[in-house]
Amino acid sequence: MKLLEGKTAIITGGSRGIGRGIAQVFAKHGANVAFTYSSSSAAAEELATELQGLGVKAKAYQSNAADFQASQDLVAEVLKDFDGKIDILINNAGITKDNLLMRISEEDFDTVIEVNLKSVFNMTKAVQRTMLKQRQGSIINMSSVVGVKGNAGQTNYAASKAGIIGFSKSVALELGSRSIRCNVVAPGFIETEMTAKLDEKVVEGWRAGIPLKRGGSPEDIANACVYLGSELSTYVTGQVLNVDGGMLT
Ligand code: NAP
Repeated sequence: MKLLEGKTAIITGGSRGIGRGIAQVFAKHGANVAFTYSSSSAAAEELATELQGLGVKAKAYQSNAADFQASQDLVAEVLKDFDGKIDILINNAGITKDNLLMRISEEDFDTVIEVNLKSVFNMTKAVQRTMLKQRQGSIINMSSVVGVKGNAGQTNYAASKAGIIGFSKSVALELGSRSIRCNVVAPGFIETEMTAKLDEKVVEGWRAGIPLKRGGSPEDIANACVYLGSELSTYVTGQVLNVDGGMLT
């Protein structure tokens, strides 16, 4: 059964990893997909072609999610390209710049907050007017287990991901009366380029602490997003859905 037939979704950071997985699964469920990337233009164009092959409308946009004006311009362009409607926003773009508090620079703290957290404000504000006019919409923000429990060496990342939770609960309270929902997905250890950078010993440590004894895949996260983006979850808002193999249990 196609759960997103005819819906239009914007996904930030769709060129690789989790965002790419969400774009693929959304297209399989019939969604038209607009997605952004930062610099991977070849991968992004290849993905757009793959999604079009599934019979949906798909387009890649180079846009820096940390830039307020760029986010406004992006949404205006997507509205032109996708018949004036946006049903689902997935704020997925994110980066890490890990270091112990003792060593972390002010620049690395600020950059992670801008790309991971300010971007969520930028894009949510940019789609708000359209969703208010439609009187419906689903916003899904990508946090992390690290935003819930913290992690040594990731003060910047943990702060950005915890901030996303507070932001999302507040948006859920502000926009609920117009049937606009806002929820958070908190992935655990998902095998992508972001986690491929980690030391194998660290990875083994993470895996050992996961009750399901495996890392997750981008599709595991995408399936949770299908639920939150579809009619299956019309009475769910302001929630944090941990998709982590039981890591936080
Ligand atoms: P990834 O493989 O590193 O992919 C990151 C994506 O974000 C890429 O498409 C990248 O575009 C894009 N991006 C980066 N900076 C951007 C910017 N300023 N503007 C627009 N797009 C930008 O990461 P991932 O593992 O898929 O993670 C996706 C999200 O899930 C992130 O928010 C991450 O924090 C969160 N998460 C991941 C894990 C995990 O275990 N992997 C766990 C918890 C949460 P380019 O390809 O052009 O660089």
